[in-house]
Amino acid sequence: MTEPMYDTTAPVMVTGATGYVAGWIVKRLLDQGFTVHAAVRDPSNTEKLQYLNAIADPAPGTIRYFKADLLTQGAYAEAMQHCQVVFHTASPFALTTDNPQKELIEPAQLGTRNVLQQVNQTPSVRRVVVTSSCAAIYGDNADIKTTKTGKFTEADWNTSSSLTHQPYYYSKTLAEQEAWNIVQTQDRWDLVTINPSLVLGPGINPFATSASFTLIKQFGDGTMKMGTLNYGMGVVDVRDVADAHMAAGFLPTAQGRYIISGYNSNFPEMGAILRQEFGEAYPFPKSVLPKVMAWLIGPLLDSSVKRKVVARNVDVPFIADNSKGIRELGMSYYPLNESLRDMFQQMLDAGIVTALAP
Ligand code: NAP
Repeated sequence: MTEPMYDTTAPVMVTGATGYVAGWIVKRLLDQGFTVHAAVRDPSNTEKLQYLNAIADPAPGTIRYFKADLLTQGAYAEAMQHCQVVFHTASPFALTTDNPQKELIEPAQLGTRNVLQQVNQTPSVRRVVVTSSCAAIYGDNADIKTTKTGKFTEADWNTSSSLTHQPYYYSKTLAEQEAWNIVQTQDRWDLVTINPSLVLGPGINPFATSASFTLIKQFGDGTMKMGTLNYGMGVVDVRDVADAHMAAGFLPTAQGRYIISGYNSNFPEMGAILRQEFGEAYPFPKSVLPKVMAWLIGPLLDSSVKRKVVARNVDVPFIADNSKGIRELGMSYYPLNESLRDMFQQMLDAGIVTALAP
């Protein structure tokens, strides 16, 4: 593996800089000494920007804010000026929405088109790193049956999601396909995609709105006190995801897609780790709920629980091959218990989750 080439004389751009994943990417860039053009929806939102300012203050690099919305054509022109690398992370991460077309698909797919069309008009850009997802690789754990190796790899594409079934997964698939279509139309810049599994670990902003936070909060706030489903999924620390973006942005040899996933895990294992780390003072799930029960009464108790999702994901393991990222980007991964511990501890410190009464 060659070494990353950090040329800090030209700025870099990060879309969705206020996001959970982006926060750590911005931190890595600032610590390396880059001038970061942070594209955000609302640069007057001092409440949100305080966390980025706090990491920028002690760092050798400089942060500059630019206003940009994914759905406004040309919105990224100013932020992208003179940038050498563009990190496109902005995309809504929500697992329940009223209008998936408007709330997920359009910002993901049209937003990617908007950002990359701007790259085509910005001669300084030589590489684009798109934060895709394992959601663009697979839609349901049951898709493992259609893989050649019995593991999800970078060669796999999600073909099972749609507007009505796993729409977030569908949005990430359409967005990444859009990116690969656009890069093919020219040869000045190249594209690398980072495809993380579920991202865990502490945020730059303890009050992050990413669905990662919603999920881990539910482990400790009583939502899962009756038990959890054996739902398999990959997990990865947010700090490792940021390192993967740095390697993808600055290693000349980085190419193609990279599954960035530390562990093939599941909800019962995550609950058990949290209980081991924090004890009985929090209502972490203890038992595993039967799949048939979730299938029968889940949708009646919670309209966001869909029978097809239960059928195709519960009691079906998630298995991904993360070897390309280890080999080509030099990835190594935080222990899973550290990611969960640091994230849950941050929620306790911020008062987002509180202990049960003694
Ligand atoms: P997040 O904290 O909700 O960040 C999403 C970012 O996108 C925010 O900065 C948000 O800006 C921005 N955004 C949303 N709609 C926008 C719009 N119309 N115009 C401009 N910006 C917009 O979620 P995250 O978990 O960090 O996700 C970031 C990226 O990582 C996404 O591409 C997601 O698909 C990907 N990813 C996440 C995970 C995970 O487990 N977290 C796993 C794999 C991939 P505001 O602050 O203004 O809302």
